[in-house]
Amino acid sequence: MYSKQVCPEKFNSVLDKATALIQHSELYTASFHFDVFLNDGSFFPAIPKHLLGNAFAWGYYNNVVLNGENDSALKYIRYNGSERLLARTIAHEMIHCLEASHFGLFHSKPLKNIPNWKWEGYPEYISYRSSLFNEDSLLIANLFVLDSLKNEKRNLAEVNTDEGKSITGFDYFCWWLMIKYCMDIKKMSFIQIMNDDIKYDQVYNEMMEWYKTHHSISPPSGP
Ligand SMILES: [Zn+2]
Repeated sequence: MYSKQVCPEKFNSVLDKATALIQHSELYTASFHFDVFLNDGSFFPAIPKHLLGNAFAWGYYNNVVLNGENDSALKYIRYNGSERLLARTIAHEMIHCLEASHFGLFHSKPLKNIPNWKWEGYPEYISYRSSLFNEDSLLIANLFVLDSLKNEKRNLAEVNTDEGKSITGFDYFCWWLMIKYCMDIKKMSFIQIMNDDIKYDQVYNEMMEWYKTHHSISPPSGP
């Protein structure tokens, strides 16, 4: 972990939380070493901004670089007026590192044209994993949100996790649920999803059909 400002001890529990999440990924290997860079105003975050565009954070090679600003409690990362849960944002970027490591740089984004619902949906899937909510009822509750907002032109969506709310792009919200449907309900692995040429519309329509026959199940309880 690299930063001029934050003391490393305080950050360790955030990294532990992120690591606990990514251990549920089929791409996880304990030997993979991550370098996590906080945004402390030094020159380093300027490099990926140039290469990868503006975002809360980026994950590439072994590097997780935070672009947004964290709060003093290290719970949130703020960027462009929105806030995301910090540990889960780090977990999202760590999964991008593991994706690139597993598939190889030439078979990863941005070098390979991979559908976003797969490449971005999977890090969201791993990083929103809950220890309190039942995952199937979480899927149904969020499909209710997707279904009721789908005709509005929204940019952002709120994801309820067991440690509070986190903002994500509305498209990311949809991609998260598509991966969640494929993995939790259809029991596909991420590698199977990557190897399958199933199209966005197919998955989306099938998911919404499934939702219509399952939405009477009660929503998740808890905070
Ligand atoms: Zn991402």
